[in-house]
Parts: sequence; structure tokens; C-alpha cells
Amino acid sequence: IETNVIGSLNELDGVGHRVVQGGSLFSKPTRVDDKVIAAIEGLIPLAPLHNPGNLAGIKVSLEQSPNVPQVAVFDTAFHATLPEHAYLYALPYKLYETANVRRYGFHGTSHHFIVKEAAKYLNKPVNELNAITLHLGNGASMAAVKNGQSIDTTMGLTPLEGLIMGTRSGDIDPAIMFYLARTQGYSIDDLDKLLNKESGLKGICGNNDMREIGKMAEEGDAKAKLALEMFSYRIKKYIGSYSAVLGRVDCIIFTGGIGENDSQVRANSCSHLLNLGIEIDLAVNNQRCSAITTISTEKSPVKVLVIPTNEELEIALQTKEVIEKQ
Ligand code: AMP
Repeated sequence: IETNVIGSLNELDGVGHRVVQGGSLFSKPTRVDDKVIAAIEGLIPLAPLHNPGNLAGIKVSLEQSPNVPQVAVFDTAFHATLPEHAYLYALPYKLYETANVRRYGFHGTSHHFIVKEAAKYLNKPVNELNAITLHLGNGASMAAVKNGQSIDTTMGLTPLEGLIMGTRSGDIDPAIMFYLARTQGYSIDDLDKLLNKESGLKGICGNNDMREIGKMAEEGDAKAKLALEMFSYRIKKYIGSYSAVLGRVDCIIFTGGIGENDSQVRANSCSHLLNLGIEIDLAVNNQRCSAITTISTEKSPVKVLVIPTNEELEIALQTKEVIEKQ
């Protein structure tokens, strides 16, 4: 309104809202009504840090423009195609049935967007594309995408599992928590804070900003070097396991603040992987990738791409699709 793009909020055709946790209830973007609001509220125990804020946004927007369609776009929706053997934890099955304990996966809007962009770029139908997608930002996750659909992903019930992140540990032995509780007096809240806010890159080297960690490493900081090494090593392990899961990999896609900008992380994560058909062209990789860029060598059977993500655009496109269908 201030910039005169629109004269009033009622001129909008729709409002798209990012909602982090859609549980097993939402596998598609969904027009918001009272039932949908109640369902998102019901999912708060699974995403106590995120869903309340997402709901607050929806409610304010409904107040401001009650006649404009509101659409919820779920971060979990792209991973709704995970097969049972990938989304279940080897816990008593009853916990899945009674408490919804399973892998949901997150960053779905971004993974979905870059898969569609890659298909266009490689001139291949999206439903024939096999990809390993890496969203590396402050939060980081990977997905194995077969025929355009997510079949596995590193984040789990919550965004804590999987890769090493800015302040999150990613995968650890769960027994570390019992050990710390029993021997160091950690409470549940202490452990939550430890693993979500004090671990990851920050836990290892005291900083969670990849640009600064890069500078610290260049200046010889041993802990920063170690944090970088650990970050890429974890990614490499998942590239290996997702290559095994997919069989044929057409492309590996890097996105997010780190994935789009940090050539060192890309090079280290993909080094010595020629046995999996992955070889990066270090000279091209070192250039700035502000548009879609192929950073693999000509002879690399697996294309390695850098694709700038655009979650806002993807949310807008999905919102448009929902409104047009109605
Ligand atoms: P995001 O959550 O996608 O905004 O990504 C944030 C992360 O990207 C932070 O760790 C930043 O330090 C990192 N990042 C942003 N720009 C750069 C850059 N030019 N080089 C390295 N890392 C970057």
C-alpha cells in the first residue's frame, strides 16, 4: 500500500502463508477456513516454535482482508510422498498410531521449487527426474527425490535431525541425552536448548554464521576448520546414502544461503565422489552463481547444479493454483 503497488489489501487475489508443520493432515496447499485453523492449532505440539507464529500471521491477515482467500502452504507437504519404510522410526509402532511419531521432513517448499527448476533447466519432465537436493541455510536439510517426488529426507519429526546446522546438532546418538541427564543433571528443557540452540557449527567453533566461520578458518582458527570439515563430511555421508537409495542420480542441487554462496562447502561435500559419478569443476564452482549454474565437469555423469531458491515465489504459485482450482 505504501509503495502504491496496491491501493488496498482487498485488491489482493490471495494471501499465501508458510506453515511449518502440516503433520499427516496436509499433503497439499490448502485454502484456510475455521477447520484448517483448528487443525494447524492441533499440530502445535509437533511444532511449538513455528506453528503458533504461522497461525498468528494467518489470523492477522484474515482480520485485515477478510474477503481475500488465504492459503496455507506447508513445509512438510512435499515430503508427504515418503514411503512408510523411510518415514517410520524403529520405535514401538503404537507411538506412530497414537502420538504421530514419524519423519515429516521440512523445507519442502524449497526442495520442491529447486526440483522443478532443475527439470526445466535440464529439459527433462519433472516426473522423470531423480535428484539429491540440498537446502543449506541456517537450517539445513537434504532430500532424495525420485521421479520428482521426495522419497527420503534428513529432517525428522522436528527440524533437528540430519545435517549439522548453524545451532542444531543434527544426527546424534539419542543415548547422549540420557547420559547427560543422568551424569550432568540436564533437564528436558536444558537438552532441548543444548541441541537446538547451542550445538551445530556454533557448538563446535562458537559461531553459527558460515561467512564468519570461513574467515576464521582462513585466519587459522582450528575449531572453525573442524566445524567446516564436520559440516561437509555429514553432507557427503548423506550424498552417499541417497545415491544408494536412488540408484540413478540425474543431478545434485545446492541451494540456500550456504548452498548458493559457499563454494568451499560445495567442493568439500562433493570431493572424491567420482565413484558415484560426481565431479565438480573447481574453477566454475568458484565463480559467483547468481543464476542457475552447472558446477560439475563435462564428464561428470551426475550434474551438480546451484539453483537459487525462491520460497516466496513457490508459495505464491501454489496459492494461485489453489485459488484458480476453486
Ligand atoms: P539462509 O538461512 O538460507 O539465509 O542462510 C544463512 C547462512 O548462509 C548463514 O550461515 C550465512 O553465513 C550463509 N551465507 C550467506 N551468504 C554467504 C556467502 N556469501 N558465503 C558463505 N555463506 C553465506
